[in-house]
Amino acid sequence: MNHLDVWKESKERIKKSQPQHAFSTWFEPIKSIGLSDDDLVLEVPNQFFFEWIQSHYKETIQNEVKRASGYDLKIKYTVSPEGREEKNINQKIDEENVWAGKRQIKNKQLNEKYTLASFIEGTNNQFAKAAARNVAESPGKQAFNPLVIYGGVGMGKTHLLHAIGNRVFKEKREKRVVCASSEKFTLDFISSIQKNRTVDFSKSYRKADILLIDDVQFFQGKEQTQEQFFHTFNELFQAGKQIVMTADRYPGEMVGLQDRLLSRFSSGLSVDIQPPDFETRVAIVMEKAEQNGLKLSYDIIELIGTHIKKNVRELESTIIRLLAHASLSKKEIDFSLAKQVIKERLGSNIIYDITVEDIVRRVSETTHIKEKEIVGASRKMEIAEARQISIYLCREILGTPLVSIGMYFGGRDHSTIIHACRVMEDKTKKDQRIGRIVGELKRELSFSAN
Ligand code: ADP
Ligand code: MG
Repeated sequence: MNHLDVWKESKERIKKSQPQHAFSTWFEPIKSIGLSDDDLVLEVPNQFFFEWIQSHYKETIQNEVKRASGYDLKIKYTVSPEGREEKNINQKIDEENVWAGKRQIKNKQLNEKYTLASFIEGTNNQFAKAAARNVAESPGKQAFNPLVIYGGVGMGKTHLLHAIGNRVFKEKREKRVVCASSEKFTLDFISSIQKNRTVDFSKSYRKADILLIDDVQFFQGKEQTQEQFFHTFNELFQAGKQIVMTADRYPGEMVGLQDRLLSRFSSGLSVDIQPPDFETRVAIVMEKAEQNGLKLSYDIIELIGTHIKKNVRELESTIIRLLAHASLSKKEIDFSLAKQVIKERLGSNIIYDITVEDIVRRVSETTHIKEKEIVGASRKMEIAEARQISIYLCREILGTPLVSIGMYFGGRDHSTIIHACRVMEDKTKKDQRIGRIVGELKRELSFSAN
């Protein structure tokens, strides 16, 4: 392995063990520049960065490099030539925000891919998207200031935050957008203290027309940084500048943040993003597959949308994995490959090797309705019910595509199948008898499949 591969592999390992924000702030910027004797030489952006990783991540890096290389490599650090020049933060932010006269021509703080157009809308995020659009179109309106977008990991908060920035950047070039994660804000602040440049620090953030701060929950426990942020917030707010923040929960529920900050956060509009529902997941998979030039049949799209439920990031990485599998093994992406990738992702036997027939047989034994009737056309109540139970179990346990289920159960169309699943989902909760039958069958079928 050469040094680049060693570092690449180490980074992959580190990525798995660190929160994403920490990974992108502290590990992504590190470059490997070579091996000398038994040392792996890593380049870091500046002295402060070096000190920070030495005190926080020294062991992590050392251990992962050892594991990745299989050797007892030592790590040596060097500061990148640009980082050696002492730059103040103001200068740095100006470099990230390039201006030509009164027009901004580049903003490196924003991820260009995160736009409103590429943000797929569903019932789970509609309101958040509408609020984001509104703020981007007329920043600083009182009712929307500050705007707090909150929700769990991988729901698209960062995406929406940058989308606001990108929209303003595109359409209101005279407005200064400053975008930073709370980690970066903290980092800039600490490094300004070290360099006696706190005045510069304040200026750089307070000249924003729109301030976008990602993941404010990471301010928790950092009293001095909160103090700074409080003043920045107030100054901007009083001047009618827009502030947008993201958080992992409703501001009122955040712990470790000063009450006066929380009350500021709650004074505008807070909108949440919920986990995507099935239809939105399917839409996202379709879109992401297309973006990656991946042709997927509807069966596979549905299979992914059915099983990968946690968040959008997981959906995205499932597609990337599929792509990797397909190109490494030079195989077509078929249903079984998709199943395999999903199994790997879920890390357990969620998809069982039992079949639709097995399910219908067990439902028939339990309900005493003949298999032929279950897959037939009769609308008699107890038959229809056994059919709905079977359909529901096929979806839940096998993740069988709607279309295939429809064909199996007497050529019904996929909206009928969706309807059956919804009805059953409801009944299992409200009707004890059905809840028990379904619960038992589910457990038993899952068990026999292991
Ligand atoms: P969060 O900040 O809430 O943890 P991110 O904004 O980083 O989540 O989103 C994770 C990934 O999922 C990103 O690549 C983002 O583009 C994508 N994503 C999230 N929600 C959507 C959506 N509604 N439409 C399209 N892509 C989305
Ligand atoms: Mg985020």
